[in-house]
Amino acid sequence: MARLAEADPDPKVGFDDTDPFRLLVTVLLSAQSTGPTVARIADALFARVKDPAGMQALGEAEITEIIRPVGLGPSKARNIVKLSAVLIETHGGAVPRNSVEMRRLPGIGRKSAEVTANFAFHEPVIAVDTHVFRVSNRIPLAPGATVDAVADGLAEAVHERFKDGAHIWLFRHGRDICTARKPACTRCPVSDLCTWPGKEI
Ligand code: SF4
Repeated sequence: MARLAEADPDPKVGFDDTDPFRLLVTVLLSAQSTGPTVARIADALFARVKDPAGMQALGEAEITEIIRPVGLGPSKARNIVKLSAVLIETHGGAVPRNSVEMRRLPGIGRKSAEVTANFAFHEPVIAVDTHVFRVSNRIPLAPGATVDAVADGLAEAVHERFKDGAHIWLFRHGRDICTARKPACTRCPVSDLCTWPGKEI
């Protein structure tokens, strides 16, 4: 973690003004969809709506139309309206500041909650997506057969001082260097620590 941190000392630059509600909805939209499409559709949606009350007013049918390109439009729209209602009724219209509370919201699983809590509120949790899962198993940093097992392992293995940035460091390492098909082991900063039998050194 120290080496990844040294190479990318300010991983969250640009995220400090993140609107938690927009981030939560964007993460919900991103399930089984690609980044550029999600960003474009989130822009379109939040050009019409700013907060949970606005989302409720827009309504499920219109939200479904706007978000159709990201896939699973009807169920995502239903969850967006439902979670907006819960935020208004239970949290005064704001996103709760921790991932445990967020996971009680409709359509929000562990990864979505932990990404949002980490980026919006600096909660020291390490969300496990496909890149983080692969890297954690290969090195291995926190091996596990399931996302939950890896997430629990990372929570134990990673020192507190690295937890705020750990998700994004591991995500970028997996996306840019330790890729699924052809990891760039010759320029990997942790190649001497990695025991993966498939590494190319
Ligand atoms: S040495 Fe290769 S397989 Fe191991 S962590 Fe680095 S890029 Fe991934």
